[in-house]
Amino acid sequence: MTATAANLSHVLPLGSRVNARGRLEVGGCDLLELAREFGTPAYVVAEDDLRARARAFLDAVSARHRDYDVLFASKAFPCTAVYRLLAEEGLGCDVASGGELFLALRAGFDPARIYLHGNAKSEIELHEAVAAGVGYVVLDSASEIERLERVAAAQRTRQAVLVRVTPGVAGDTHHAISTGQADSKFGFSPHDAEAAIGRVSAAAHLDLVGLHCHIGSQLLELEPFVAAVRTIAALGDFPVYNVGGGLGVAYTDSQQPPAISEYVETLVAVVHRELRTDVRLLFEPGRALVANSTVTIYTVQSVKENVSTWVAVDGGMSDNLRPMLYGSTYEALLAGRPLAPASRRCHVAGKHCESGDVLIRDVPLADPAPGDVLAVPVTGAYGYSLANNYNGVLRAPVIFCREGTARAVVRRESYDDLAARDLE
Ligand SMILES: *Cc1c(COP(=O)(O)O)cnc(C)c1O
Repeated sequence: MTATAANLSHVLPLGSRVNARGRLEVGGCDLLELAREFGTPAYVVAEDDLRARARAFLDAVSARHRDYDVLFASKAFPCTAVYRLLAEEGLGCDVASGGELFLALRAGFDPARIYLHGNAKSEIELHEAVAAGVGYVVLDSASEIERLERVAAAQRTRQAVLVRVTPGVAGDTHHAISTGQADSKFGFSPHDAEAAIGRVSAAAHLDLVGLHCHIGSQLLELEPFVAAVRTIAALGDFPVYNVGGGLGVAYTDSQQPPAISEYVETLVAVVHRELRTDVRLLFEPGRALVANSTVTIYTVQSVKENVSTWVAVDGGMSDNLRPMLYGSTYEALLAGRPLAPASRRCHVAGKHCESGDVLIRDVPLADPAPGDVLAVPVTGAYGYSLANNYNGVLRAPVIFCREGTARAVVRRESYDDLAARDLE
């Protein structure tokens, strides 16, 4: 790629290119043709990118550690096709609710490789997980120990569990996605974890196999991960350690995350140093697996000049809530002329009735006009999963693209879907 598109190659899915017609292609598919065929907005997923990152994780871990599993933190992109593809690639799965458990089982994950998380799991969710035969339940509170003991006893079984420890380290990320600090709603402090470990060990129907920690998301530095492992290593000697997810990705060229291999190397090294080389080691990536695979396409509806240039598109906070939730930043380009000089600084606004519904501020674009297809890269994580129907907007389809073939794996919602749960 050259010029403008080359400047965005750090955020486009692997294999993206400018085709002979001078238009942007993802997974071998021309984005303008996808917009015509499937409508906009749409999540366009480069299947090969998704597979490549799954393999990068598996290769990075298997080259350095013998007994491991890599789990897809499925809240990042919980649709059946993504679950299925990552199951095919050999990943396990992390779920955080009965709904995600249902989807993971339906997509074909081996229940023994499903992990149930959550700081407020209901008794019904625990029942469903134990009945499904999930590999591990990750215990998050004292009351949950009693509750799960009761559930496992009622099903006359023993449930393998991990204890989630909040190591008291805070990664440099938005407060809304930081989970490892001492004053967190998640897990046990190292001090409380000692008591929890004692209680779980005494429970007749629980089998304590190890510890879990997950300190936050979109982390661009490795030190907090290392500090977290040091903290949990001080709590005893267990067969299983789950070091969570949280590796960040580049949404813009100002963010430089460690490579997957570098992240894995650092974590394996600290585990070998602080624990043992023969523990069962689990990684739980969400964002770093799925974010880069996807580009959201929109159609520009209006361009307005006042103090700034406002480019309004046919989606917004209903398909990507992250800018509003976390102040997240993105880059963007026009799919029909990715090589044209992006000389105009614009705000890309959504269509919702909120002034805060602005997808990107101050992004250079090549003279956008109504009807242009705008591509926003790195929307594979926490886009689809946080989607909503605000303003009666229909949730967007998910289009898988590979070697020039596109297929919808989730259809666009219909107006009937909007009324589907109404009983009157
Ligand atoms: C969200 C979450 C993950 C994945 O986080 P990413 O930042 O998307 O990698 C992993 N483990 C747990 C327990 C989580 O809650």
